[in-house]
Amino acid sequence: MNEEDRALVERAYQYAEEAHRGIKRESGETYLTHPVRIALFLAKLELDVETIAAALLHDVLEDTSIAAEQIERRFGPGIAKLVSGVTKLARVRLKKTGRFLPAFLLRREEERVAFERQVESLRKMLLAMTDDIRVILIKLADRLHNMETLHAVRPDKRARIAQETLEIYAPLAYRLGMGDIKGRLEDLAFPYVYPKEHKFLRDQLGERIRERDQYIVRFQRTLKQYLESEHIKMLDIHGRVKHEYSLWQKLQRYQGDLSKIYDLIAIRIIVPTPADCYQVLGLIHSRWNPLLGRIKDYIATPKPNGYQSLHSTVFGVDGEITEIQIRTPLMHEQAEWGIAAHWHYTEHKSKKDDVLPRPSWLADLHKWQQTLKDPKELQAMLRLEFFRDQIFVFTPLGDVITLPVQSTPIDFAYAIHSDIGDNCTGAKINDRLKPLDTELKNGDIVEILVTKKPQGPKRDWLRFAKTQKARTSIKSRFGIS
Ligand code: MN
Repeated sequence: MNEEDRALVERAYQYAEEAHRGIKRESGETYLTHPVRIALFLAKLELDVETIAAALLHDVLEDTSIAAEQIERRFGPGIAKLVSGVTKLARVRLKKTGRFLPAFLLRREEERVAFERQVESLRKMLLAMTDDIRVILIKLADRLHNMETLHAVRPDKRARIAQETLEIYAPLAYRLGMGDIKGRLEDLAFPYVYPKEHKFLRDQLGERIRERDQYIVRFQRTLKQYLESEHIKMLDIHGRVKHEYSLWQKLQRYQGDLSKIYDLIAIRIIVPTPADCYQVLGLIHSRWNPLLGRIKDYIATPKPNGYQSLHSTVFGVDGEITEIQIRTPLMHEQAEWGIAAHWHYTEHKSKKDDVLPRPSWLADLHKWQQTLKDPKELQAMLRLEFFRDQIFVFTPLGDVITLPVQSTPIDFAYAIHSDIGDNCTGAKINDRLKPLDTELKNGDIVEILVTKKPQGPKRDWLRFAKTQKARTSIKSRFGIS
């Protein structure tokens, strides 16, 4: 960081320190430790200075009497927008419907469908409410730290937070290509959402992992000598233990048979270039036989989230079946940090032959044509424009209602029930009375006021009602077709 950036981060730190002074986390720690941990985490990902300052300030609006305008005056519109963006996302939460149950325990079909629908609209909503991907990065870091300290939280809150993490935030991290965060979020949520299964896995696994670990160390040593004798320049070789939650998911696909899971611990080899990856794969196959159908070339055809590597499963030392993953440092970074890797590679290291491939989800989301060379262009691209034709708003009970853009409280009222529409007399948006022709925005909480005696719709509503449902109901009352 240059001097100016440093000064900015210092000011943000001071401001947060004053704002949260005397406040403690549920864990008993000083509140400030929370924003600081998040800022540090994002600094390690080499995100820009605005993001780091905004991370320090991310809970200031929610937890204190400070208003967004004050942040804007002190830190400028860029940081203020990020902070308000993160604050707004606090509204996206799973609704409490009785007890929080793991999805698989919802035995009745309609319950399961309702749960999945809720999760799906929350995922969409989260993206729709965010016009800058950095807001999501701060939110993911925030969630990660909250999960790390979840044990200190009231038990009744834990289940909701853990389940949100599993159903909403981990899939989002995956979609953004952030494999490391996704795995950590899932493993942190796992014991809270599926305590029995988690314990079962731990009990089963302990011994097996120790055995495998010793074997992997042995195989690694042999591999290293072999590749060195073939004059391969290896940057790193290490064992990677599979994340618990993804192991558990895989186990379910294999009827709980742990012996069928070959990548419990995989060996990961990092070499300088893609050509080296193929050469190493060839050398390994010439000495240890590969299992048929287990060779995967994610370099030639990356996964939709941008993941690249060569995978193969071989009969290793003593015939023991072992998965091997081969990749370059750049691919490694992309696999662990996804979009954040794009960010800082573009900002700092635009070496010509070292450009990250475009993950296809990015290409889908933004029709940008150029390669990722110009940081300005990347920033523009990272302003998400999902679901441009839909908005997501809440009922006072936290149900999500999807409406077309420019919808009004009248559309909302008819979306809930035609009686509510017909008898609507007014609306509160985010607790304030507003005219019925107010345009609703993503994340608004809408409450409809109705008369006690039935009144019927007003013809005038046709001026601003957007949805088919509202318009048809109103028209039919006045005999308009
Ligand atoms: Mn926070």
